[in-house]
Formats: sequence, structure tokens, C-alpha cells
Amino acid sequence: MKISNFRIVPLQTEVAEAARAGARAGAPDHAVVTADSPRGYPCRHCLRWAEPGERMILFPFAAIAPGRPYSESGPIFVHEDSCERYAAVDKFPAEFRTGRVVRAYNARHDIIAAEVPNGEGPEAVIERFLQTPETAFVHVRSVSRGCYTMKVERI
Ligand SMILES: [Zn+2]
Repeated sequence: MKISNFRIVPLQTEVAEAARAGARAGAPDHAVVTADSPRGYPCRHCLRWAEPGERMILFPFAAIAPGRPYSESGPIFVHEDSCERYAAVDKFPAEFRTGRVVRAYNARHDIIAAEVPNGEGPEAVIERFLQTPETAFVHVRSVSRGCYTMKVERI
């Protein structure tokens, strides 16, 4: 079996719990929405698509912390109810193999490469980026909307 050089980093449980608390408290930047399509509401904590009818919290997440040229905050979903954090971190989540762009960042959090996997699959792009010594970490994002999906680190 092929050994990969990466580890998936799903959204921290503390962040998901804080979003749930924020939504319960009526925070104006936390919206509760009901999924109405099978591939429109990706949960960044369990790394699954919400099924239609599931309730999701939409809130802003700073995938690149403030204070840097590439700092950014953008909208992400988590399940409104507790869900299990994605645990198979040595495997790329099957539900997000398509429709994603892979971005490499250096230690200063600048984007140094970005590629939409085509044919070879996301693992090959991630592994290639992580073989570059300058790459500090990788982000996987929606190719159509740019929203943050997950972080990937070198093992
Ligand atoms: Zn979830």
C-alpha cells in the first residue's frame, strides 16, 4: 500500500462548537440554514456534504489569520448538531474529490502554487506540493466559490 505524505486537518472541534454557541446566541454573522440540495452544504468538521433537510450554521472563518498579505476570512458551514470530526486523516475525504482547487502556502502564509486536480486526483497534487520544501501547508477549497474546505499538512 502506498504511503502518503499528508495528513488532513479538518476544522477544529472548538471552532465548530464556538459556531454552534454563536448561532444559539443569535450572533448576527452566524446564520442557520437548512440544506436544500445534496452538494451545496459541506460541513468542514465531519467533511461530509449535508443531506437535504439537515440544519447548518454558516459563519465566517479566518482560514489565513489577520495580519498577513494573504489574510482571509470567508464563509463556511458546519452542522448545527454535534457531528464527529473527520477521523480518517490519512485519506482524502471521498466526498470532496471533485470541484476543489488545491493551494500551497509557504511559512509566511503566501500562496505559492494553486492547481485544480485534473484526472490525477487531489492526492497527487497535494503530495507534489508537499514535496516542495517551501510548502508549509496546503488548503483545499471550492473551485467555484473559493470557500475553504480543509487544511492539509505534511506528515
Ligand atoms: Zn458535520
